[in-house]
Amino acid sequence: DGSVLHRTVAAHDKLLGGLLADGFDERSCHSRYQSATYRRNAGREPSPHLVSKLRQHEALQRRCGPGTVAYSNAVESLRSGKSGGGVIGSPECRYLVSMSYRGLGNRMLATASAFLYAMLTDRVLLVDPSNEMDELFCEPFPDTTWVLPPGFPLTNYTDFSVRTAESYGNMLKNNVIKIDAGGVPTSTHQQLPVFAYVHLDHDYTVHDKYFFCDDDQRVLRDIQWLVMRTDCYIVPGLFLLTGFRDELDMLFPERVTVFHHLARYLFHPNNHIWGLITRYYDAYLATARQRVGIQVRVFGSRQELPKVLEQITACTHNENLLPDVITDDGEPFVAQEPHGRIKPKAVLVTSLSSWYYEKLKSMYWEHAASTGETVGVHQPSHEEYQHFGSGSHDAKACAEIYLLSLSDVLVTSGWSTFGYVAQGLAGLTPWVMYKPWNESSPVPDPPCRRDVSMEPCFLSPPYSDCRMKRSAHSGKVVPHVQNCEDVPWGLKLV
Ligand code: GDP
Repeated sequence: DGSVLHRTVAAHDKLLGGLLADGFDERSCHSRYQSATYRRNAGREPSPHLVSKLRQHEALQRRCGPGTVAYSNAVESLRSGKSGGGVIGSPECRYLVSMSYRGLGNRMLATASAFLYAMLTDRVLLVDPSNEMDELFCEPFPDTTWVLPPGFPLTNYTDFSVRTAESYGNMLKNNVIKIDAGGVPTSTHQQLPVFAYVHLDHDYTVHDKYFFCDDDQRVLRDIQWLVMRTDCYIVPGLFLLTGFRDELDMLFPERVTVFHHLARYLFHPNNHIWGLITRYYDAYLATARQRVGIQVRVFGSRQELPKVLEQITACTHNENLLPDVITDDGEPFVAQEPHGRIKPKAVLVTSLSSWYYEKLKSMYWEHAASTGETVGVHQPSHEEYQHFGSGSHDAKACAEIYLLSLSDVLVTSGWSTFGYVAQGLAGLTPWVMYKPWNESSPVPDPPCRRDVSMEPCFLSPPYSDCRMKRSAHSGKVVPHVQNCEDVPWGLKLV
């Protein structure tokens, strides 16, 4: 009767083509099954191999996860410092504890990367509570938990840093672990340690970077517990390894959809955040003819940059995403025919500042669009600056990333993981606005460019190709790993 927003999708699509496991209690996590009904863009189909690998991985998480005998045994091995599980080097279950930090976008990219690495290496993924994944998202694995339980034996693990003696890089540097010329690991001890810390942060050393090498992956495979810290999307680095290549090709025949699938598999906003998303969507976006998402990343404190506003309007106009307005006062106003009125376009602005939104909204209210269209401009929140460790702030950030991902087209700020996550969830290749260097630099020309793929950029990648000492950049190692457009030294899948 027109009073109900109709939303139905086939069961197959509800599970995103088999990406999601069936059998969860729907009421405990509405977003898992409802999100498909909010997307006009259905997203990409997962490969059959990815679907079966996910089911296998879920079984592994259940078999070895917290609460199982295998988990207790593994924790005991870690506590006693001795590899357990019978034959040295092949313990029953192996684990990856993922730690990350910084903003939500960074943490989501890091978690998705850790998940892919865990799948590739058959490790149980456990996320550290400091990632706050459990406060924002539903449990992704059926009948188990991905949250590292209290009582983890490495009491100081949250302080692990580039200086930690047990980091893989430091163990190589200090010859605790050696790799001989033939790529064969030897250990100064009789056996490899029961755990290693993998430091993949922006300050990581040349030794830490050997993580992205095949010889080193062979060593790491035999270490039961890995504790990994990163704030990055390390996936392009995994594509540099020959050892993972065949499996990655089978999992992701459509290479640029890696994060798209990982994110839609892992990140289901909890019911509270789903409420924020759906109430906003239904009130302001649902009936629009088209939704244009514009993410304006304000780095540092509150900024009001007229040049960035100019960049937004030039970009959306040049790329035919939004109409120009008639600013000539003499131009007669032509009202739309009452019967033939077309639905408005909706612009969703997300930013820490409300200034851009206020300006855009006034522009489309005070002036007619040259095309005769109506343009509504909306912004859910303006938090002014980035807060750390605040639940309601993170919930809003999460809701806004998700709302952006429900757009039909996306304009993002380069260099921002917040935008990377939105584009990946959406399955959209955005138009990217490059960052003006400072207030006196001119508006970039062109103001924005269509990105080369929907994949996030790995912002602090390794610089050299392992012990070969070749540059790992610009397709020199593998052609589908290229430098990013927005961050020239970054790497991304194309
Ligand atoms: P990045 O710093 O742009 O790479 O993105 P992150 O998500 O890692 O960190 C930025 C953090 O600042 C977010 O997680 C939010 O906490 C906050 N933030 C930045 N932009 C916005 C925005 O448009 N809306 C909201 N609600 N928060 C934002």
